[in-house]
Amino acid sequence: MSRPAFAPDSCVVAEVTPSPNHGERKDGRRVDMIVLHYTGMSDAEAALERLKARGSEVSSHYFVFEDGRIMQLVQESRRAWHAGKSFWAGETDINSCSIGIEIANPGHDHGYPNFPKRQIAAVTALCRSIQTRNTIPPVRVVAHSDIAPARKQDPGEKFPWRTLHESGVGHWVKPAAIMDFGQALRLGDRGDAVAALQKSLGDYGYGVEASGEYDALTRDVVVAFQRHFRPERIDGIADPSTRSTLQELLATRGRPGPSPGGPLPLARARLRSLPLDCAAYRPHPCWGQSAGRPLRQNRKVAGEESPGSMDKRCRITSGGCESRDSATENRPPGSAFGRDAVRVKRCGKSAPRRR
Ligand SMILES: [Zn+2]
Repeated sequence: MSRPAFAPDSCVVAEVTPSPNHGERKDGRRVDMIVLHYTGMSDAEAALERLKARGSEVSSHYFVFEDGRIMQLVQESRRAWHAGKSFWAGETDINSCSIGIEIANPGHDHGYPNFPKRQIAAVTALCRSIQTRNTIPPVRVVAHSDIAPARKQDPGEKFPWRTLHESGVGHWVKPAAIMDFGQALRLGDRGDAVAALQKSLGDYGYGVEASGEYDALTRDVVVAFQRHFRPERIDGIADPSTRSTLQELLATRGRPGPSPGGPLPLARARLRSLPLDCAAYRPHPCWGQSAGRPLRQNRKVAGEESPGSMDKRCRITSGGCESRDSATENRPPGSAFGRDAVRVKRCGKSAPRRR
C-alpha cells in the first residue's frame, strides 16, 4: 500500500485522499472555527472528486460519508477553500481561521434526506477531535448558511445541532415555542424593533447591519438563523419565538453548558483532557459495539426524564481494561450522578490485540 500524502490530523480519519486546492492561512491565523457543509450533489463520490479536482478551486479539510467513513483532503494547518465569500463576528476571511467539513448529503435540490445516525456520530467525533487540538468557542461551530446566508442553505434544517451540542459541540438552546400571536417582523418593515433585531443577530455573529430596515438580507439572515436554531418553521419572519430563541442564545453564549466553552470543573476537565483520538483509547469487548463512541442515554432525574449524553471510553492499563464514562447532561451539580461525575471501573479483561 502506498504511503498517504500526509499523516492524518486525527485517527478518526479512515483515509487521506489529498486535494491540491489549499493555501497558506493568511497572517498566520489560528483555527478557531468549524464550518459544516453538505455536499449538495446526488452522488457523494462525484462530490468528493470535485473537491479533489485541480482547477475546481474548492476543497474542505474533511469529508464524511453517509456510512460514517471520514476522509481527510487537506491538512488542518492549511487553508482549505470551502467558505467562499462569507462573514462571521467581524471576520471575512473565514477560510483562514476555520476547518471545513463536507457532509455527504444530496441537499435541498435532490430530495434532502435525513442525515444517518452513523454519519452524525462521525461528524461529532471529528469535531470533538478538532476541538482537542484547537480552541473553538461553541458559538464558532457554524453552518455554511450562517456565514453566507444570501448564498447558502447547507447543511440545512435537518442537521441535528442539538445532538452535537449534547455531545459538547456547538451552541444550542431549546427553541422558544411558536405562538401565533405577538409582534412578527417581516420583509418591508422598518423601525426600532427591526434595528434591535438586526443588532441582536449581529451581536451573535451574523453579517447584518442595524439599519432599521427589514430588507432581503435581513430576511435571509433570519432564514439561516431558523435553519440552525428554530427549524420547526423557516419563513424568514422574526416572530416572537425566533426573537426569544435569539435572546436566549445571546444570554447563554458564554456559559459552560454541555458544550465546552467556559472553565471546566476538575472531573470534566480530566475527561476532556483524555486523548479522545489517541490509539490508547479503542474499542474493547467490555463495551461491545458502543466502545469509544458517544452514547445518548435517558435517565430519570428528580422525577423527570432528562435527555443527555455520555461518553464511554476504555483504555488498556497494566491491570486490564479500564473504562470511564462521564455524564454531560444538564443536571444540578452535586446530584447523585451529577453532570461532572466521572466513573472509572475496571473490568479486568485483557487487552485486545491491536488491529
Ligand atoms: Zn457549503
